[in-house]
Amino acid sequence: MATRILLSEDEIPRQWYNLAADLPTPLQPPLGPDGKPVSPEMLEPIFPHALIEQEVSSKRWIDIPEEIRQYLARWRPTPLHRAYGLEKALGTPARIYYKNESVSPAGSHKPNTAIAQAYYNKKEGVKRLTTETGAGQWGSALAFSCALVGLECKVFMVRISFDQKPYRKVMMQTWGAECVASPSPDTKAGRDFLAKDPDTPGSLAIAISEAVEAAVTDPKHETKYSLGSVLNHVLLHQTVIGLETKKQLEKAGEKKADVVIGCVGGGSNFAGFAFPFVYDKIAGAQIEIIPVEPTSCPTLTKGPFVYDIGDASGMTPLLAMYSLGHNFIPAPIHAGGLRYHGMAPLVSQATVEGLLAPRAIPQLECFESALLFARTEGIIVAPETSHAIASTIQEAKRAKEEGKEKVIVFNLSGHGLLDLKGYQSYMAGELTDYVLPEEIIRKNLEAIKDFPKPSLAKTGKW
Ligand SMILES: *Cc1c(COP(=O)(O)O)cnc(C)c1O
Repeated sequence: MATRILLSEDEIPRQWYNLAADLPTPLQPPLGPDGKPVSPEMLEPIFPHALIEQEVSSKRWIDIPEEIRQYLARWRPTPLHRAYGLEKALGTPARIYYKNESVSPAGSHKPNTAIAQAYYNKKEGVKRLTTETGAGQWGSALAFSCALVGLECKVFMVRISFDQKPYRKVMMQTWGAECVASPSPDTKAGRDFLAKDPDTPGSLAIAISEAVEAAVTDPKHETKYSLGSVLNHVLLHQTVIGLETKKQLEKAGEKKADVVIGCVGGGSNFAGFAFPFVYDKIAGAQIEIIPVEPTSCPTLTKGPFVYDIGDASGMTPLLAMYSLGHNFIPAPIHAGGLRYHGMAPLVSQATVEGLLAPRAIPQLECFESALLFARTEGIIVAPETSHAIASTIQEAKRAKEEGKEKVIVFNLSGHGLLDLKGYQSYMAGELTDYVLPEEIIRKNLEAIKDFPKPSLAKTGKW
């Protein structure tokens, strides 16, 4: 009865899994401002060729270069844990497992793609990467990866997190990156937003505008931009999580997973964990696959499936995705990484198809669940991850009511050792729940009412 199910370095996956190859209804293309599909060449000023190729690929399996596997070997394969402590506390007949992505040097799943992106940029002669960061996990993951691979790194960090999470900034600086609060005076986009509202808490969408601008305006053309979630190539790199998990479940003697759960911000840790299971579901397996989001940023559960831009000012193409509207300024909840207005097109299309069963959970239930987890399993998780735990607990209680021995697996996307302020506020009784009102969603969506509309067609099988 193993508590941690481990793999050897040799078992780090040799290929990534690309769901685009198997989606029953195909992905809808990104569109330019003229409403015409964006050609891969149009992405060249911001991304290296190898990543653009992956972005548009419809190949099912894509080889992972040996050098990338060697970087990943510094912390991978990550352990799969059996949550005996949590099971006992809940008195559930369910067997609960979690994949522990918090053991990476940056403390989350994010280095899985940061390493791959830094590697391909370096290989194509790029000198510097710019990016945005919300809670700071992505910025620190990219700073870490740039240090290993040998690139400069500039991070635009959403103002509210910059103030709430000063230690993430110190991590980035320790790894040699520059980190500024966004909106910043360093870009035109930043200056425009500051002129409109000098006290703005900022948003990921604004920070993306700044980071893209800083890359494309480099007079020496030595800078490219890097995105930590949402895009197809990012989700692709994260699939090492789910591929390892499936091997580990097999080692633990499980024939299948019944319920697969991950929290969703832009969708990358969920997708990386869940897509290898979606592959089984498309092939006929009975699996409930649950992306979990906050009620304060209910993209999948309350947003429409639309074409919307990925940033706040139209530097990015239009993506077919669930969205709350790019002008959405989220409530300052503690799960900073789950406050993005859109959702990855691959996760969105899988939701349209009915392959996923999204849920929204309020922050108090999430923190309550995180405390129970800390007191039974020991790990203090990131506030983002607490959404996956809250959903896992709901499912484990349901299994108890139904008297079913289900196998529930969730992705522990990161630790919360730099998010203790959220825990402190929760334990002091200072946090409240926030449900995003429908009128605000309607009002935000006004801004995109003239954008093209994606097809809602689905096979109807799920
Ligand atoms: C960034 C982050 C998330 C949310 O981003 P996704 O792209 O949706 O995975 C979730 N958990 C942790 C720990 C994160 O750092």
